[in-house]
Amino acid sequence: MAQTFVIPPPPIAWLSTTTGEAFPVRRVYCVARNYAGHAVEMGHDPDQEPPFFFQKNPNNLIQNKPFPYPSQSHDVHHEVELMAALKKGGRNIAMDSALDCIWGYGVALDMTCRDLQTHAKQLGRPWMRGKAFESSSPCSAIRPVSNCGHPHHGAINLWVNGELRQAGDLSQQIWKVPEIITFLSRDFELAPGDIILTGTPAGVAAVHLGDKLEAVIEGVEKLSVSVVHSD
Ligand code: MN
Repeated sequence: MAQTFVIPPPPIAWLSTTTGEAFPVRRVYCVARNYAGHAVEMGHDPDQEPPFFFQKNPNNLIQNKPFPYPSQSHDVHHEVELMAALKKGGRNIAMDSALDCIWGYGVALDMTCRDLQTHAKQLGRPWMRGKAFESSSPCSAIRPVSNCGHPHHGAINLWVNGELRQAGDLSQQIWKVPEIITFLSRDFELAPGDIILTGTPAGVAAVHLGDKLEAVIEGVEKLSVSVVHSD
């Protein structure tokens, strides 16, 4: 007999892909301070830390819709990031087989309420309010590895109203995608449907109502999103 539920099961979160089929999202992991330039601009020494992580919620990801500026913040920043989508998981994944876990890649914005994040840091509290808010990650379609390969280098750029704000290269990542998967899988059971946002290059800054954001990762995908008032 099929299981019945006391309330309707919530809808599954998913992202569109360039193949026309949807990618179901299970968990969302994010890497902090993964480009030296961004670590320095946030006041940290990039040479002294192992990678560390935080999470967003699957249904924080949005596609093909504007970004609603969260009313609880007055300092929302853009962070353009390479997104990896997993088709396979496990524990203690070896570095030389880690790339076999990836179904595809896309462009994501790790939108951040910098004021709330900074306040949380000062109090030694989790970053949840600053990072995992509603609609906090506009995403492109996901492009399969069979189409784009594994991008080890290539420009990762973000423009605001036509002005270049973030200009990096994937080769500047401190922890490469296989290392990220290996580290994550020591603490967590990775599984098909997991998404990893792999960190942002230097140049993060505030967005404002009416801004038009354009993000491109060379050889992967692009993303356009406007900043609108939240309802
Ligand atoms: Mn980030």
